[in-house]
Amino acid sequence: MRALDYRRPESAQEAVELVSSHPGARYLAGGSNLVDHLKLGVAAPDVLVDVSRLPLDDVEEVEGEDGAVLRIGANVRNSDLAAHPVVRSRFPVVARATLAGASGQIRNQATTAGNLLQRTRCVYFQDVTTACNKRKPGTGCSALGGYARYNAILGASAHCVTTHPSDLAVGLAAVDATVVVLGVEGERRIRLEDLHRLPGDRPEADTTLAASDLITAVELPMVDTDTRSTYAKVRDRASFAFALVSVAATLRMEGDRVGEVRIAWGGVAHKPWRARRAEAALTGGGIEEDAVRAAVDEELATATTDDGTAYKVAMVRNTTTMTLLRLAGEVRR
Ligand SMILES: Cc1cc2nc3c(=O)[nH]c(=O)nc-3n(C[C@H](O)[C@H](O)[C@H](O)COP(=O)(O)OP(=O)(O)OC[C@H]3O[C@@H](n4cnc5c(N)ncnc54)[C@H](O)[C@@H]3O)c2cc1C
Repeated sequence: MRALDYRRPESAQEAVELVSSHPGARYLAGGSNLVDHLKLGVAAPDVLVDVSRLPLDDVEEVEGEDGAVLRIGANVRNSDLAAHPVVRSRFPVVARATLAGASGQIRNQATTAGNLLQRTRCVYFQDVTTACNKRKPGTGCSALGGYARYNAILGASAHCVTTHPSDLAVGLAAVDATVVVLGVEGERRIRLEDLHRLPGDRPEADTTLAASDLITAVELPMVDTDTRSTYAKVRDRASFAFALVSVAATLRMEGDRVGEVRIAWGGVAHKPWRARRAEAALTGGGIEEDAVRAAVDEELATATTDDGTAYKVAMVRNTTTMTLLRLAGEVRR
């Protein structure tokens, strides 16, 4: 049995001080991912700093530096986030992405920050008897040539081919969310798009955060009421399953032309993949099936697949096309 210290700080500042002064310390929120990792031997912290009772559980409209934002506290539970009236009405993509994750019970427990920082579900990462560069740098990647169905098709490296598991992160990437972080040097903001990273030769680092950085909130720039959005997830069963592929999209039409479109994909890379080439190809044109398919193919030009992942190309193309055609139909109605 390993000794494990448990601390419950009174403030976010105290939490950061505790983790920055203990190299083996980790934040604990809902525990639905981290506690599993303690049991599996994937994580072995010396100190758990429980931040789940810090008062970071409001959802409120506030004035940000660049206009109004919806500020979501780091400890807002996934269920509460998905049910919030402003999230449902103005950011359906975020509500739907959240509801697409896990199960009702887990969403009651899971927090906004914990969801974004959950770790990969790669079977080799979670099985400590196998080689995994993410869990133990330098040991190799068992997923290369192994069970590949969930592997990345974009931005992978020779060191790691896994995908990021969070549905919420994909929804947030499509609405240009910003993450508010408290670190040893004070507060800063990071674009959600820059929070997670591609594996390169350091797959052990999922994000650009330092170990003691505490997420305190996520901010969503308020969207105008004629922007529609949604989330589509393809998975093996209707609930309690991670994405094979997912698509988060927002669309604002100007007549029959695309005024603004934002597309993020899940299940394809080590981070939520913002499909900026596809967005550029579609902006100013119509949402027709052939145009969307061509735009998706432009984005997927750098995709690499093998026998295990080849199916994802068609799945991304079809799911994106269906999602945008539906949104355009909704806009025109
Ligand atoms: C069976 C099952 C199925 C699931 N299916 C899905 C799914 O389909 N889609 C999906 O998206 N998710 C799914 N999940 C994952 C679930 O959503 C996550 O476990 C959950 O969101 C993690 O949140 P938490 O608050 O419990 O985090 P914790 O487990 O407490 O923490 C997770 C990580 O975040 C860090 N952390 C927590 N809070 C902060 C903070 N404020 N600042 C900095 N670091 C912090 C912790 O140190 C830890 O590294 C599933 C989980 C299970 C068990």
